[in-house]
Amino acid sequence: MSEAKRLPERVDPRRLALGGGSVAGDVALADLRRLAEYLLVDEVPDSGRASLFLAFDEDPQRRVRITGNLRAVLTLQCQRCLGPVSWTVDQPLRLIAVADEEEAAGVPREYEPVVVPAEGLDPAALAEDELILALPLVARCERSECDGAAEAATGSERADNPFAALAALKGQDGGRRDE
Ligand SMILES: [Zn+2]
Repeated sequence: MSEAKRLPERVDPRRLALGGGSVAGDVALADLRRLAEYLLVDEVPDSGRASLFLAFDEDPQRRVRITGNLRAVLTLQCQRCLGPVSWTVDQPLRLIAVADEEEAAGVPREYEPVVVPAEGLDPAALAEDELILALPLVARCERSECDGAAEAATGSERADNPFAALAALKGQDGGRRDE
């Protein structure tokens, strides 16, 4: 990882698109505060980083199109035994830069709109948003000793999250546990 390069703080997507430019770099997971609340913090190595690559061009409608890739290995908490779970993100990105929600509504289905403020696109914030979107609904480890005791113990406090509860229900039949 000696060639790791920090992401620029702000870029101008339109200018990059006109020149067929790209952005590549890394951001420390420790710097992503919103993501941190989803991670098993004690287990996050200081060296944990996310790598982002973005290429900019214009689509036939002259919208700024951003394609690329996001990679990271996150450490989540198994919701059955509370142990660490390694979660690999290798996410292709297909985005269209928009100025506001109104413009976002016109973006073709195969692209994800990304609202870019007047001061420019913050690549690290984009990486953080995409990492949060890439998280599983329910993290589960594949250890044989993962017995679900924690899940039973914490069931009442998780009941306020309907998505986690639904995913847990779905996982009870046809889950891919190694048993
Ligand atoms: Zn577990």
